[in-house]
Amino acid sequence: MRLDVLTIFPEYLEPLRHALLGKAIEQDIIQVGVHNLREWTSDVHQAVDDSPYGGGPGMVMKPSVWGPALDDVAAGTGPAASCSDLISSVPHRLLGTSSSDAAAPRLGEESPTTKPLLIVPTPAGVPFTQDMAARWSTEKHVVFACGRYEGIDQRVVDDAANTYRVEEVSIGDYVLIGGEVAVLVMVEAIVRLIPGVLGNAASHQDDSFQNGLLEGPSYTKPRRWRGLDVPAVLLSGNHGKVERWRRDQSLLKTAARRPDLLEAAQEAGLLTKRDQQVLDAGTPLEE
Ligand code: SAM
Repeated sequence: MRLDVLTIFPEYLEPLRHALLGKAIEQDIIQVGVHNLREWTSDVHQAVDDSPYGGGPGMVMKPSVWGPALDDVAAGTGPAASCSDLISSVPHRLLGTSSSDAAAPRLGEESPTTKPLLIVPTPAGVPFTQDMAARWSTEKHVVFACGRYEGIDQRVVDDAANTYRVEEVSIGDYVLIGGEVAVLVMVEAIVRLIPGVLGNAASHQDDSFQNGLLEGPSYTKPRRWRGLDVPAVLLSGNHGKVERWRRDQSLLKTAARRPDLLEAAQEAGLLTKRDQQVLDAGTPLEE
C-alpha cells in the first residue's frame, strides 16, 4: 500500500516511521510519502491560507495551493516527484522476508481505472470506524489532506472528486488544531490490519469492534499482584470455559459502556440465546 500525506507540518508525521509502522516500511508492506504543502505556493511568504469569504474569524486554506498539490500527488509530478519516502527509524533487518504488497503503485503509477482514495480529515466528516479501517486496508494508494486553521476551501474537496474517490472523515466529536494527528490515528488503524504487519495474524481478530462488541479485560503474570488475583477461570486450562468467560466479559462491558454497540449487535443477529441470558442476568452465568 502507498500512503501520501499533504501537510504544512511534515515533522508531525514523524511517528509514521516508528515501531510497527516503521517495520512495515522496512518490509516494503507500505511506502509513505510526506509532502510539504508549502512547496506548491508561489509567493514569497509561502502563504497557504486567506481570509474567509462572508467574513468571520480565522483563515481558510487556499484552493490555488491545494488543487495543484493534490493533482501532483495523484500523478507523481511536480514537487511530489522529488519527495523521498519515509525511512524506517529502526533497523529491523527484515527486508525481503515479507513483502505482502509488491503490486503497490509507485507515486503516479495508479491504474487509470482505479482512482486513489483521498481522505480529508474534518470534524464535520463521517465518523471513522473499524469497518472503514478494514475496508481501506486493502487499498493500493491512499492520500491524506491535512487541514489547518478553519479548514480547506470546500471547492478543493469537490474538485478532487475528478481525480480521487474522496471521503471526508472525523475521528471523533471534538475539534483538533490540525488534521495530522487524525491521520496518525487512521493510518495506525488501517495499517495494522494489512496482512504481515502484526506478528500474529490472529491478534486483531478478538479486538474490540471486530465482532461488534468491546473486548473484555486481559491479564498476565504474576497471578497475584498488589492483592489482586487473576480470575481463576483463566488458570483452569479449560479452553471452552475461558472462551465463554471472555464472551461474557465482552458482553457485560459493552452493555455498560457502549449500549449503542450492543443494540447494533442485537439488531444484526450477532448475539446467541446464551448471550442474551448473560445480559439479562447482568453477570456471567454459573456453569
Ligand atoms: N472549522 C472547522 C469545523 O468547525 O469543522 C474546524 C477546523 S480544525 C480547527 C482544523 C483541522 O483540524 C481540520 O481541517 C481537520 O483537518 C482537523 N480536525 C480537527 N478536528 C478533527 C476531527 N475531529 N477529526 C478529523 N480531523 C479533525
